[in-house]
Amino acid sequence: MKLTVLGKYGPYPKAGTGATSGYLLEEGDTKIALDMGSGTLARLMAATNLQDLSALYISHLHFDHTGDLLPLRYLLDDLDIKLNVITQYEDSDWYRVLFGSPRFNVINIDACTELKVGGLKLTFFEMKHPARDYAIRAEGEKTFVYTGDTKLCDELYRAAEGADCVLCGCAKPAGFTGPHMAGDDAVKFAEETGVKIIATHFAPSFNAEKDMPKHENIILAEEGKTYTI
Ligand SMILES: [Zn+2]
Repeated sequence: MKLTVLGKYGPYPKAGTGATSGYLLEEGDTKIALDMGSGTLARLMAATNLQDLSALYISHLHFDHTGDLLPLRYLLDDLDIKLNVITQYEDSDWYRVLFGSPRFNVINIDACTELKVGGLKLTFFEMKHPARDYAIRAEGEKTFVYTGDTKLCDELYRAAEGADCVLCGCAKPAGFTGPHMAGDDAVKFAEETGVKIIATHFAPSFNAEKDMPKHENIILAEEGKTYTI
């Protein structure tokens, strides 16, 4: 199982470089894109043929996780293909703007959903964030979890049980009180679970090398890098 970081920033990219949340998870021929933040579409196209993408997962509907969904439609038009998009239903105009395209085959999930996509079993866990967010757990030869955006919560511990790796939106300074995990939450989570964490969702102004608490099980996501899970 492999994970490529397409975009690690939030809520907006770093000046002159970077993209907001977007990742590509692969195991064998199964390829699932995770979120589609601004600047990630170009990198996704460089990482894989869109025709080979099994599905796209959207963790929640904040702009920094959905921005490139709109130009993606033009690409799907040019390729004349449909794409499976897994996300939660929301009765809102924004949901209809994002997903109301015949190019998207939308599959709505909640915390009770279990899906099989290629060789992966997918389950979902409701996190704690101002916009409803589901962590996705993908089980194949390895088990991988992506949190989307969340505070540290009991459901994250459930999602991460026995996982090999958690891609975690926790790249914030210790003591951060916004709607995301902070670096000290990540350390607590790593110590209590023993799971390997890839920390992501960097504020552009955050000097993570300096201000993210260090832990042997936590590494800092790097854009363009592919990790073996
Ligand atoms: Zn968010």
